[in-house]
Amino acid sequence: MKDSYDILVVGGGPAGAVAARTAAEAGLSVLLVEKRSAVGVPVRSGESIGKDELLEFIEAEQRFIKAEIDSSVLIGPDSSKKTIHDGETIILDRKIFDRELIWRAAEAGAEIQVHARASAPIMEGEKVCGAVIEQHGKRYEVRAKIVIAADGIESKFAKWAGIDTTIPLDGIKSCAQYLVNDIDIDEKEMQFYISPEDAPGGHLWIFPKGKRSANIGVGILGTESADGKRACDYLNHFVEKNYPNGKITERSVGGVPVCKPLKETAADGILIVGDAARLSNPVTGHGIYNAMFTGRLAAEAAVSAVKNGNTSKEFLMAYDRAWRESDMGKEHERNCLVKENMA
Ligand SMILES: Cc1cc2nc3c(=O)[nH]c(=O)nc-3n(C[C@H](O)[C@H](O)[C@H](O)COP(=O)(O)OP(=O)(O)OC[C@H]3O[C@@H](n4cnc5c(N)ncnc54)[C@H](O)[C@@H]3O)c2cc1C
Repeated sequence: MKDSYDILVVGGGPAGAVAARTAAEAGLSVLLVEKRSAVGVPVRSGESIGKDELLEFIEAEQRFIKAEIDSSVLIGPDSSKKTIHDGETIILDRKIFDRELIWRAAEAGAEIQVHARASAPIMEGEKVCGAVIEQHGKRYEVRAKIVIAADGIESKFAKWAGIDTTIPLDGIKSCAQYLVNDIDIDEKEMQFYISPEDAPGGHLWIFPKGKRSANIGVGILGTESADGKRACDYLNHFVEKNYPNGKITERSVGGVPVCKPLKETAADGILIVGDAARLSNPVTGHGIYNAMFTGRLAAEAAVSAVKNGNTSKEFLMAYDRAWRESDMGKEHERNCLVKENMA
């Protein structure tokens, strides 16, 4: 690890990996730090993404594709079925996919450090100028012209830098998911169960991962979670009832922001992307595409800022405006309204 870089990316998820790759491809010196000891694990994701969305960032390689889906079906409380989407959807293997994205960033010239946690920003007045990085019991002060905060739902970096990142309890979905094997499913159909019995204030999903495997998960509103009524309680009930002989080979829990995005996603010396900016879809909880999209846009803004020698908030707010005015930003705004009307 060097003492200084043009860009420091905090977090090695899809947002951080695409940001690092984009900035490195433009010739900037880039360091990406990931606090976990391995990228892509544990998997906290149903792993679905639209095929077109995927292809915008990377060619579809069989290595990280577990299933190709033809249709998505909503299942109501009375077991009625409604097809909601006929477009092609991919179910990824994120253990491989996330690593592939990181590898592409490394190939473009970004330095990658795992088991490396950003523990505090380096500030000069109000301006972010880098971060303290802790790795293997050692502490490094790494300076950067711009920090891209891609640290996901558990994001602390922007908050440490003085930005309000609070999520209200009704703005977070609490999720539990199992990878269930040896079960009878339609491997071409994604299912969403919408009923207060299965998932109060949220939904239950079955996303096939090949012939006889599926990610089965539940997301419930944080305000609905209570003793005996946690996301994993609803999931256990559903799996025991419908797939009593299924073999569970992975269990994961996690949160998804389903609130409005941060009021501002740029400040002096810092840009905030993906889940850290609260940009997953507030209705479905899906955020892989938005993370990659904002990661790329933020890196483009960072490249322009470094080349112009201007890393002020005023200059970097071009990124904030760009994603809000994009199709992604407009769709996100529409989905925020849908979620408000559902409440
Ligand atoms: C149960 C569940 C199911 C989901 N299903 C889907 C789905 O089917 N489709 C979809 O599109 N989305 C889904 N999502 C959401 C999706 O996983 C996220 O929106 C997406 O991963 C966001 O990418 P990101 O890069 O912003 O953040 P993340 O993928 O969360 O990456 C952030 C990274 O930052 C690292 N980090 C955090 N703090 C620090 C630090 N201080 N220093 C260094 N590193 C740090 C973390 O370890 C992490 O690796 C699901 C989420 C959950 C919880």
